[in-house]
Amino acid sequence: MKLGLISDVHGNLPALEAALAALDEQGVEAVLCCGDVVGYGPWPDECVARVRARCELCLQGNHDAAVVGEIELARFNGTAAAAARWTRAQLSDASLEFLKGCPPQTAHRDMFVTHGSPRDPLWEYVTDRRTAYLSFRHVEQRLCWFGHSHVPTVFVERDNDVDGGGVPGCQTLALEPDARYLLNPGSVGQPRDGDWRLAFAVYERTGSEETVTFHRLEYDVERAAPAVREANLPQSLYNRLLLGR
Ligand code: ZN
Repeated sequence: MKLGLISDVHGNLPALEAALAALDEQGVEAVLCCGDVVGYGPWPDECVARVRARCELCLQGNHDAAVVGEIELARFNGTAAAAARWTRAQLSDASLEFLKGCPPQTAHRDMFVTHGSPRDPLWEYVTDRRTAYLSFRHVEQRLCWFGHSHVPTVFVERDNDVDGGGVPGCQTLALEPDARYLLNPGSVGQPRDGDWRLAFAVYERTGSEETVTFHRLEYDVERAAPAVREANLPQSLYNRLLLGR
């Protein structure tokens, strides 16, 4: 089994196209998306179309849910709410229907996949060991993929003890057969760990050997960032793409 994992595309088409091309090159048999296809970025409809065509599974993130009207924009800060309003007007009926039909979390293959956390799939961030420990309590599967924090992350549970955190740069991790894992592939379209390059992950299983490779890849940010300005989206979103935070 060889799978590509992506998350938090946020309407950034140059980043999504680069990530999907890299996953094709890697020869993955399927791609799973942990949600937030839209919100913030200037190409929401194009990103939904690409994800629909390529992903075996796509989750609904909090931004997707807000854009389709399933959660209140009042729960968002001003920047996110403005972007969600703008995004809603850009989406075709088919794209809105697609996002409405995506679940915020689900069991898939023999893994679990959630946007935020297994306890609270739309809102909770898994960024510390305590939240990771509580998240493991809500998952039966050995592997759980998540997104939402925009930071590539691994938490590992051995003998009821949880360790781990953010994963900088490109790295391959060999999974231990007796441990359980919470894994975040990072954000394709709006990284927030200080590294502007897009992030994705590849999960590979051959017999009893399992690896997860975290990838970072430069993409055409010189095309993505100006398009944020041209769409009159908030300036902070432009800065974020260039700085990766
Ligand atoms: Zn997000």
